[in-house]
Amino acid sequence: MADGDSLTALEHEVSRCRACPRLVAWREQVAIERRASFRDETYWGQGVPGFGDPEAQLLLVGLAPAAHGANRTGRMFTGDRSGDFLYASLHRCGWANQPTAVSVGDGLVLHGAYVTAAVRCAPPANTPTPDERDRCQPFLVRELAMLPTVRVVVPLGAFGYQAFWRAWEASGRAAPRPRPRFGHGVEVPLAGGPTIVCSFHPSQQNTFTGRLTPAMLDAVFLRARAIVGLPQAPMATHVDAGTGEAATGEAG
Ligand code: SF4
Repeated sequence: MADGDSLTALEHEVSRCRACPRLVAWREQVAIERRASFRDETYWGQGVPGFGDPEAQLLLVGLAPAAHGANRTGRMFTGDRSGDFLYASLHRCGWANQPTAVSVGDGLVLHGAYVTAAVRCAPPANTPTPDERDRCQPFLVRELAMLPTVRVVVPLGAFGYQAFWRAWEASGRAAPRPRPRFGHGVEVPLAGGPTIVCSFHPSQQNTFTGRLTPAMLDAVFLRARAIVGLPQAPMATHVDAGTGEAATGEAG
């Protein structure tokens, strides 16, 4: 970590970054054109910083902001269906104070968790180029250095998984060779480092088709609690081992 580096400084840098001409053009075009249902809103239209608890034990690494989600609201996974699915699970599993994420200032607070992404500007078709991915990597490297209490990393999807390994190695730390194959629930404990617990990405493509269910995502975040030694989720979420279905009822 550079002397004097801070998450606040990084936040400002990310929001002003214009290093990827294609992504800058896209994020700004989307912000001007807007989706009809958000035509009265002012889109963020900039790089989206990470969000969460600076003392995080759990780090989530997604792919990139969604054009009408985080690119609109300015906060990771906020304002779209993926975020609805993700934060509902984080809430059930005790990592967030509320199940919804609609805008900055909605009161959402993460407890012991921090959410970031491999690429911080919305890419066309959710597909950054390898150059764009690599250009954005130093931000993740710096976040890893500034979040020393992280004990579990949950990559959300294979892109986030590979991005984590690249950033991890760019930090001068060793990664297993060959890298374990990505799959939902795959766990990779790192000697002297965090444990990686993989999850499928909560994209609509995955959640609408049932490839990723609430129970599957809850299982990942409950596993993260167990690894860091936290008591199981304070909210009453029951993952039925037989059916794999989540039944959610708030106990308090
Ligand atoms: S994707 Fe990353 S490196 Fe590229 S412009 Fe956005 S913040 Fe900068």
